[in-house]
Amino acid sequence: MEGWGYKLINLGCKGKSEEQMHGVSDGPLRGDGVTYYDRDVETCDRERLQELQTRKLLALLNKVAKTNPFYRRKWAAVGLTDPRGVQSPRDFFKLPFTTKGELVEDQATNPPFGTNLSIPITRFVRLHQTSGTTGKPLKWLDTVQSWNWWLRCWSYVYKGAGIGPSDRIFMSFSFGPFIGFWTAYEAAEKIGALAIPGGGLESLLRLHSLLENEATVLVCTPTYALRLAQIAAENNIDLVNSPIRKTIHAGEPGASIPATKKQIEASWGAKCFDHTGMTEVGATGFECVAQPGGIHLIESEFIFEVIDPETGSQLPEGKEGELVITNLGRFGMPVFRYRSGDRVKLNYGRCECGRTFARMEGGILGRVDDMIVVRGINVFPSAIENIIRQYSEVEEFQVEVTREKEMNELHLRLELNPSIQSSQAVSSVVKAIANDLHTRLALRVETTVVPAGSLPRFDLKARRFIISAPGRK
Ligand SMILES: [Zn+2]
Repeated sequence: MEGWGYKLINLGCKGKSEEQMHGVSDGPLRGDGVTYYDRDVETCDRERLQELQTRKLLALLNKVAKTNPFYRRKWAAVGLTDPRGVQSPRDFFKLPFTTKGELVEDQATNPPFGTNLSIPITRFVRLHQTSGTTGKPLKWLDTVQSWNWWLRCWSYVYKGAGIGPSDRIFMSFSFGPFIGFWTAYEAAEKIGALAIPGGGLESLLRLHSLLENEATVLVCTPTYALRLAQIAAENNIDLVNSPIRKTIHAGEPGASIPATKKQIEASWGAKCFDHTGMTEVGATGFECVAQPGGIHLIESEFIFEVIDPETGSQLPEGKEGELVITNLGRFGMPVFRYRSGDRVKLNYGRCECGRTFARMEGGILGRVDDMIVVRGINVFPSAIENIIRQYSEVEEFQVEVTREKEMNELHLRLELNPSIQSSQAVSSVVKAIANDLHTRLALRVETTVVPAGSLPRFDLKARRFIISAPGRK
């Protein structure tokens, strides 16, 4: 059959022996072998995976095209009034993209939930919303069925990281309208682990609770894992020898930024895993224990494409572009060909863990709109973070972009570890970082060392990059 992706790769499931599948070591840290949520699907060949996707998609389109006012309007505008008009990936890829802007506008025009509803409102049982950091939050509804689908996707995340019934998972956040908290918590139950809520506590009390209850897994943003480690160090708490053996992160790209990952692993004595997802889409990806440097996409529950963000045309395997997502298990409030805004590069080769699910190499590489041009040089925030996080002397940092004489300039503010006292030691760290930024990114950055504790701290999504003047590309 015709492929969803860029070329149809028939890898076959039978290439590896049972021992090879299970014999993957997860590195020098404490850990175990490969575990799957649904081994059959996770290791099957691409052709079978695409058959599964097609079957789910056609069933979904058939229902949505009849009852969902938002998609009926969108598709009628391109001449599709009968879902039977979509029979193959070729037909499907003619359907228009969905953008976040459209969904926000639809909810603003048709408050409070918009018209992307395939079933009566009374059938929904859960409401969540996006963080709203880039505008008005988007509200999203789930049914019992789509909620279970979310938890299934999260089970892939836990199992992929080798987490199971013997684990105790500490959720170091207060439960708000952000969907990730609830799904992480409830999916812990699905895999038989013990879920420990860490809400309503100051950071130090969270650390005490985590240790007292002998938690083995920590779930939080990468920024907050480093923040907790700083607080532990200030209070002489030994995390390296604590029962925590794994950490799972989302919300920021940090856990896939090599230097940040390394710092989290060193400060917790644990293996760090990245995970991706979006409120309006679902839990889309996870890192396996083999960790070849990428995040597996849950292709049994979604259809993923990579496009050129400028032209919208599909890109071949291995080309960096914008990730476009269709979810296959959220009938009540679905998204078709949703432009995620995330920059990724996909690899369809079989992973060391045995999975054939595609991998985002290097995780989410950034946002399609977060590139800054500084004196003619294209710079992504993640590249700067990867350099700064190699210096354990840096406790926190902030990058401000200002426009001066029609040029973007970068100003870096560093908060150093209080143990770095002498002006000589301070200047040597600053020089080393400036030198690295210059040799590796060709950036000349004005750097200031600011007093300890003066930069903002973040429990959730960090905002370390401030654009204080126009000039952002
Ligand atoms: Zn893998």
